[in-house]
Amino acid sequence: MKDIIQIGDLSVYLIRKDIKNVHLSVHPPDGRVSLSAPLNTRPDVARAYAISKLQWIRSQQIKMSKQLREPLRKYIKRESHYIWGRRYLLNVVHTEGKQKVIIDHKYINLFVRPGASQEKREEVFYEWQKKQLHKFVAEMIAKWEPIMQVKVQSYFLQKMKTKWGSCNRKLGNIRLNTELVKKPKDLVEYVIVHELAHLIVPVHNEKFIQLLDKFYPQWRESRMELNELPLGYVEWK
Ligand SMILES: [Zn+2]
Repeated sequence: MKDIIQIGDLSVYLIRKDIKNVHLSVHPPDGRVSLSAPLNTRPDVARAYAISKLQWIRSQQIKMSKQLREPLRKYIKRESHYIWGRRYLLNVVHTEGKQKVIIDHKYINLFVRPGASQEKREEVFYEWQKKQLHKFVAEMIAKWEPIMQVKVQSYFLQKMKTKWGSCNRKLGNIRLNTELVKKPKDLVEYVIVHELAHLIVPVHNEKFIQLLDKFYPQWRESRMELNELPLGYVEWK
C-alpha cells in the first residue's frame, strides 16, 4: 500500500512493508523521498517520524542538487549557453561603448571592456538574462491573472538554490529563479502558473492539483521535463 505524506512542499512516499524498522531514503537524481515502514504503522506516526528527519532530508536533497550542477561557466569565447532552451555560443566582443548583449541565431555577443574580469563578464550577461526573463514573466502574469482570477502584487527574480519558484500568499508575491531563462518558455510558463495557483492554494493538496489540471493540463509533463533537462542544476521541490 502506497500513501503520500505531505509536509509543506515535501512529498514523502510511504511504503508499508513486512519489516521491523522504518527506513527513510532520499533517491537520486531528483531527491524523491520514501519512507518504508512496518505494515501496522499509523499515518500520524509515520508523519511525525518524517518531520523529525526533515533537516536530514533537506541536506541530502541539497547535496544531490549540487551534484547535478552544470559545469561552471567562465564567460569566454565559444562557451555554450542556453537561452529559452536553445543552445548558443558565446562571443566576447571588446568595446569602449556600452556594455551589452546582442543575440543572433547562433551567437550570444557579449560586449565588455577590454580586460573585463570574469565577474564583470558574468555580471553583464546575468543582467541581460534577467531583463529577458522580466519581459517574459510580466507578459505571462498579465496573461494568467485574468484567467486564474488572481492578483500578483509584485514578483522578484533571483538566484535560488533549490527551487524554481516560491510564493508568499499573504503578500501576494512570487519569486522566480533566474535560471529559468535557460529553459524552454512553455516550462517557464508552467512554473508561473504553478506559483499563481499557490496564491489560491498554498500547499500541494488535491485542490491545488485540480487547479493545475484545469489551467495547465500538461503540467505533469512540464514538471518532469523541468527536472530532467540537463541544462541547469536546480530541482523542482
Ligand atoms: Zn508548489
